[in-house]
Amino acid sequence: MVLPDSSELELPEGATGLDAAAAIGPKLAEQAVLVRSNGRVQDLRLPLEEGQQIQILTTRDKDDPDALAVLRHSAAHLLAEAVRRLYPGVKIAIGPPIENGFYYDFEFPEPISEADLPRIEEEIRRELQEGRDWRREEISREEARERFLANHEPYKVELVDTAEGEISLYTQGEFTDLCRGPHLQDSRPIKAIKLTGLAGAYWRGDEHNTQLTRIYGTAFYSEPDLQEYLERLEEARRRDHRRLGPQLDLFHLQNASPGAPFWHPKGMVIWNELEDLRRRENARRGYLEVKTPLLYDIDTYITSGHYENYKENMFFVQGREDEKPLALKPMNCPGHMLLFGSQLRSYRDLPLRYAESSTLHRDERGGTLHGLLRVKHITQDDAHVFVSEDQIQDEIDAMIEFARDLYELFGLAPRAELSTRPEQRLGTDEQWDHAEAALEQALRRHALEYVVSPGEGTFYGPKIDLHMTDALGRSWQMGTIQLDYQMPMRFGLTYMGVDNQEHHPVVIHRALLGSLERFVGILTEHYAGAFPLWLAPVQVRIIPVGESHREAARTLAAKLDRFRVEVDESDETVGKRIRNAEVEKIPYVVVYGDRESEASLAVRERGGDQSTRSLDELMRELSANV
Ligand SMILES: [Zn+2]
Ligand SMILES: [Zn+2]
Repeated sequence: MVLPDSSELELPEGATGLDAAAAIGPKLAEQAVLVRSNGRVQDLRLPLEEGQQIQILTTRDKDDPDALAVLRHSAAHLLAEAVRRLYPGVKIAIGPPIENGFYYDFEFPEPISEADLPRIEEEIRRELQEGRDWRREEISREEARERFLANHEPYKVELVDTAEGEISLYTQGEFTDLCRGPHLQDSRPIKAIKLTGLAGAYWRGDEHNTQLTRIYGTAFYSEPDLQEYLERLEEARRRDHRRLGPQLDLFHLQNASPGAPFWHPKGMVIWNELEDLRRRENARRGYLEVKTPLLYDIDTYITSGHYENYKENMFFVQGREDEKPLALKPMNCPGHMLLFGSQLRSYRDLPLRYAESSTLHRDERGGTLHGLLRVKHITQDDAHVFVSEDQIQDEIDAMIEFARDLYELFGLAPRAELSTRPEQRLGTDEQWDHAEAALEQALRRHALEYVVSPGEGTFYGPKIDLHMTDALGRSWQMGTIQLDYQMPMRFGLTYMGVDNQEHHPVVIHRALLGSLERFVGILTEHYAGAFPLWLAPVQVRIIPVGESHREAARTLAAKLDRFRVEVDESDETVGKRIRNAEVEKIPYVVVYGDRESEASLAVRERGGDQSTRSLDELMRELSANV
C-alpha cells in the first residue's frame, strides 16, 4: 500500500482498510471511518487492492464530504431501525446520504406527520446510547431474497432482484439492511443527529408507483457543527413558503380540503400574472388554447393506461345510480387525445400544439403533502404537441428554448435530467435512438447543464425533467418534456401523410412551469416573499401622514391606477405603517404629508432609503419595471 505521504506499507494479502489502519497505529484504527483510494471510497472491512494508494479517513475529517456521507448513511440505518421498532408493519425502501444529510423512504401503515419526528429522534438517541456496531456479510441472491420475503419487505426483495454484483447486508442491533456500504465501524462517531423534515417520494422516483414517506435527517461528528447547520436551516425556514404564504396573505391550507390551497386575493394577483405570462408566451409560440372536461368515464382511462397504472392516485365520482362511474382527470392527456381524434387530420395540421391550464386532481397521500409543493389539486401549464417523427427535433428544441426563457425571467437555474430508455419499453430501438438524440441535442444546443439517468425514462419514451431546490434544499420537479409514441396509438390517432397514407402522430407532453401551485411556492422562497414589481400583489402603498392628507393620497392613487396601488388610511402611526409595508414586502411606499406634492414625493423603495421623486419620475420608473 502507498500512504498519502508516499511512504509504503507492507500488509499480508487480503488485508482490509482496518488492518492497514491498525498497522499504522491503534489510535488510527479506533478513529477510522473510511478508506479512500484514487478518489473512490471503500468500506473499512473490505480487502484492499494490491499496491493502491490509500488514505484513511477518521473522525477528525469531520468536514470531508465522504466522511460525512458514511456517518450520515449509517445514521439513516439507525433511523430505519427506530422506525421499524416504533411502527410495526412499516415497509422500508431506500436510505442514501444526500447533500447536507440523509433520508430514508418508508411505506407507513398509517400516515405520519412532522409531529411524529421527535419521538423517532428520541428512539435513535436511545440506540446511540446503547451503542451499535455494523456487521457486514455477503450472501447469495436467493438467501437475501428469502430473508427479505420473510421480513415482509417487498421493496428490498425488488432491490435484491434488480441489484448488480455481490449482495451484501449490514446489520446493527436487530436491524439488517440490504446495502453496498460503506458504513462506520460503530455508532460512536455520531455525536449529533437531527430529523429535519418529511416529504412524499415515489418508489424509484416514478409517479406511477406507490408514494412513500421520506424522512429527512442530518448527522455530524460534533454538536457545534449541527448547531451551525441548524442556524442556516433557520434562515431557510424564514423563506419557507408555508410560513410566508399566510403572512403575506397569499393563500392558506385547511383540513376542509386537504392538499388544496385557498387562494386569497393577493395570491390570485401572482397567479393571474403567471397565467397571463403562460397565455402570452404560448400564443407567441404557436400553441392553441383548449379546454377539455374534468370528468371522464372509466373507459377513457382504460384506453389511456391511467386506469391500469395510476388508479390509486385518482378520484372516482359516482353520479346517479344507473350511470357509469366517472373519474376526475389527473392529467390532461386523455382529453387532448380525444380532441385530436375528433376530426380528420392531415400532415398540414402538424405540429398541432394544444395548451391547457386546467385543474387536475391527484390523490397524493396525506403524509406526503407539503404546502404548495405537493398538493392534491394541481394546475399545470400543460401542453400536448402532436408531431410527425421528422418534426420531433425542432419541436423539442423550441421547447427547451421556451423553458430557458421562462426560467431566466425569474432568475431561476433549473437542473435538467435526461432519462433514457428503460429495460421494459415499447417501440423500436430506432425510435428510441431518434428520440433520445433529439432530447440530448436540444439540451446541448442550449448549453443547459444536465445529468443523464440511464434507464429512468418512461416505458413510452424518454424525457427531460427540470428540477428546482426549495429553501430547505429539497429538490422538486418543475417542468417536464416527455416524448410519447404510445398514447396516440392507444387512442387510434392518425393523420394523413404526404404519401396519402395514415400515420400515427407522436405526442410530446410538456409542462414548463410545471404545477402553478408548486411554482408559486418555489418563487415565494426564491424571492423570500419580496416579489419583483411585476408580480408583487401590491406595487405601491401610499401612506397619508395625517387625516388631512387622505384626500391628496387618494388623488395620487387614482393617478397611479395603472398599477396596483393601495392607500393605508389606518389609524396607526406613520412609523408603524411604514414597518407594516416592509413586513408585507411592498416594493414602493410613498409617504404623503405637508411637505409633499406631485412635484416632490417621498418614495421608499423596498430595502432602500427614502428619496424624493416627482410623480412623473415615479410613473416612468414603475412602467419600466412592470
Ligand atoms: Zn447502508
Ligand atoms: Zn400528458
